[in-house]
Parts: sequence; C-alpha cells; structure tokens
Amino acid sequence: MTIDDRLAPAVLARILQAGQVGFATVSSDGIVRQWGPGMESALGWTADEVVGGPLPVPLLGQTLARRKDGSTAQVEVQVMPWEESGTLFLLTEAAGRAHDHEAVHFRELLNAAPDAILEVDAEGRIILLNDTAEQLFGYTRQELLGQPVEILIPASLRKGHHEHRRQYSKHPARRPMGTNLRLEGQRKDGSRFPVEISLSPVYCEDQFCVAAIIRDVSERQQSEERLRAIERAYTEELAEKNRELQLRNAEVETANRLKSEFLSGVSHELRTPLHTVIGFTELLLEEIEGPLTDKQRRFASHIHRDAQHLLALINDVLDLSKIESGRLELQSEVFPVAETIDEVVSSLNAKAALKDIQIEVDLDEEAVELFADRLRFKQILYNLLSNAVKFTPASGRIWLEAEARGIGGVLIRVNDTGIGIAATQHEAIFDKFYQIGQKQASGVEGTGLGLAITRHLVEMHGGQIEVDSEPGKGSRFTFTMPGSASAAPN
Ligand code: ADP
Repeated sequence: MTIDDRLAPAVLARILQAGQVGFATVSSDGIVRQWGPGMESALGWTADEVVGGPLPVPLLGQTLARRKDGSTAQVEVQVMPWEESGTLFLLTEAAGRAHDHEAVHFRELLNAAPDAILEVDAEGRIILLNDTAEQLFGYTRQELLGQPVEILIPASLRKGHHEHRRQYSKHPARRPMGTNLRLEGQRKDGSRFPVEISLSPVYCEDQFCVAAIIRDVSERQQSEERLRAIERAYTEELAEKNRELQLRNAEVETANRLKSEFLSGVSHELRTPLHTVIGFTELLLEEIEGPLTDKQRRFASHIHRDAQHLLALINDVLDLSKIESGRLELQSEVFPVAETIDEVVSSLNAKAALKDIQIEVDLDEEAVELFADRLRFKQILYNLLSNAVKFTPASGRIWLEAEARGIGGVLIRVNDTGIGIAATQHEAIFDKFYQIGQKQASGVEGTGLGLAITRHLVEMHGGQIEVDSEPGKGSRFTFTMPGSASAAPN
C-alpha cells in the first residue's frame, strides 16, 4: 500500500495534534528542534523547556523512560532519519499503561528501598534485582541477571551457601531480618561487608524461587564495635582506678599502723615518768618524810590531780588508737556480774560521797554471770558512772539497773538526775574529743574520749549503747552485752 501524497500531511498533522503519538525532531548537532504535544503528555516537559537544548531523556526502543517528575513511563520509541542528517523520534506509550501503573509504582518502591532486594530461581540464579542491589554490590543489572547468587558471597563461604540453599528449598519459611543469617557480602571489587539477610519463598513462573532482602549492617557493626571499645576502655580505666585505690588503701593502712605504733610508743614513754610523778606526790602528801605547809600541800595536790588527769588522757588515747587500728583484742570470760559492778561502784564511792551521793545498784536476780571481757566491762561501767558523778550536782541521785539478757548477757542502765543532755547532742557525745561546753561552768574535767571508747567497747562485744536525756532532767545511758551468743571467743 502506498500513501497518498496529498493526504499525508493532513493525516499526519491530525495524528500529531491528537497527542496520542509524541514526536520530536533533533538536528544533527543533537539539539531538539520540535517537541510535540504527545511528548509533553507522556514525559512532562513542555516544548518551551526542551526546544533549543539536548533531549532531556535518552529515548530508544522499548524502554522505561524517566519523566520530568521522576516517575517512569513504559514507552515505545521509533527512531528514523529526518531531513539533513537530523533524527525523528516517534513515541507511543506502551499499551495497557493504565494497567501497568501499579507495577511501575511497585518497581519504584522496590528501587527506593534502602535494602538490596533479589529474587533467585530454583537453580540459584538471580532473576530480579532492585537498584539498591546494583549500588550495594557494585555490579550493573546486566552483570547480575542470570548469574548464580553466590557471585555476591566471598569465595570461602560459597560452598556453605550451596548447602544452605538446598536446605532452605526443603524447608522454605519466611525468615525475618535480624533473626537469622549474618553473612558477608562481596562487592565486585572484592571488598567484603557484613550483611543481614531475610528470606521468603515465592512462586514465580511455576517454580520455586526465593526473595532475599539484604541489608548492609557495616555501620551498625561499627557502632557496636565502637560501643564495645568504649566499654573496654571504661573497664580498663576502672581496673586502673581500683589498683590505685588499693595502693592508696595500703598506704593509708601503713600510715595508720605507724601512727598507732608511734602513739603506743609515746604513751608508754609518757606513762612511766607520770607514774613516778604521781607516786612521789602521793608520798609527799602522806607527809611521812615530814609535814607540809598548807601551801605545799595545795601545790602537791594540784600536781597530783593534773598528773592523774594526764595519765587518764594518755590511757584513753592509747585505748582509742588500739581500737581504731583493730589491735584491741577482747579477752572474754565468764564472771560474776554483782561482784564486778561492786568493784566499779566502790572505786567511785569516795568521789560520789563528796557530792553527798550514794550510788545505788538494782540488780535483777537472774543476772548472775556475764560472758565478756571483764576489764573492758569494768571500763564501760566506770566511764558511764564517773560521767554520772561528774555531771550530777550535790544531793542528786545515781542508780544502776541490771537485767539478765539471754545466756550470759546483760542490759545495764546508768541513771542520774544530773544536768542532762540536749537531744541535738545525743549523737555527738559519742564522737571522740567531743565535750558539751559546760566544762568551764561546772568545773568538771574530762578528755571527751570516754564515750567514744565506751561505744566501741560495747559494739566490739556485739552490744549497743544509747542515751536518753533531757537538759535539767538527768540522763540514762543504756547498753547491752549479748553474752555468749555473739561474744564467744573464736
Ligand atoms: P568526758 O571526758 O568529757 O566525760 P565523754 O566522752 O565521757 O567525755 O563525754 C562527752 C560529753 O558528754 C561530756 O563532756 C558531757 O558534756 C556529756 N556527758 C556525758 N555523760 C553525761 C551525763 N551523765 N550527764 C550529762 N552530760 C554528760
């Protein structure tokens, strides 16, 4: 059939104006000279935008052409010569375009995915892949299509992968990301990277295929490694700090031991001459070597009193340093309670009598024997009773109550009607060197160590001490000695 030359231009003009077929002409220098309405509707660019420049998209054969808005169109392009070495492009949108719209959309979706997506047939050949797969592995689509999927795996892992694929085809199941395979991928350039893979069985063209989603996890692995490195650094730093601390502890312990040794050495050196001073003053005061004048007696009494005070202080300091360095050991034994309390009370009777006070003792019948360090028990009692005498004005009352507690244990209360202690001081009086400011006022002396030592001694026996007191209403110190249960010697 030949075309009627007279009719042709009119027919052509109608066809082209209808916009069903897009046409474009390009001159030999590659510049677009004409751009028909069909081109505009198929690809999105207007003639104004295109004419005078190069083709905005490559156009050849059956192809997916990218539109101006980034979407793709399935088109068919005919290319033929046009006037002096120019080219004419005739474009029709592929039949069923509306129908394919969803498929095209879906393809775009797959290409936009951040993970590589592949479909592999029953023989393990790649039959479908998205853009990300090309980018991730560095191959073009053409290089990958039809290739065994093992091309994407390092050689050393390929054998295992064959077996793996065989197993999977026997028990195909959906395997979500993260729960399964951690493998290594290999790029075209041979470099490797860690990947995570999820698999799903699919049936395509009547055969069993597998869809694989492959995720590059190198970044995640790197941050995990960084985290681990930080953790390691911290652990090392901590260990280093611990070592330093241990060293420092050892130094402190040594310093403490040296201090204690020094204190006990010095105390010993001080006590010996003090005993001499006290002994000879007592001799003087006994006036065996001749009578003293009133003044001499007064002077000798001062010397005697202050030397005694100094001795008490030295003894207390020594005790405390022994307790604090853990060198004080209890010598526990079973002993009669009544007798021991009497010994302490007698030693204080003279002082109490000066204030017209008689120390009363109320002993529970069952409190017969105590299991404790007898000397230290007497020291506790002496400290509490001598405080009661010190801080109770003339004609006051001091009384001691003792109750049996468990086997060989006792609870003791030392009560007085003295000046009392404000609630705010109840804790502090057990601190070493702590004295409430009434020393000058009442003229009493002390070291401020008595209660600190007392509490340590009670606690070393496994007991507790507490105070109950109000200013002006007197004080009650209560302590327990649990006896054999926790004070038995090892
Ligand atoms: P001190 O050698 O001064 O007696 P202590 O440690 O035995 O040292 O007592 C600390 C302080 O607690 C005393 O200085 C005193 O202020 C107060 N204190 C202790 N016992 C009594 C008491 N029975 N009545 C009033 N105050 C007391």
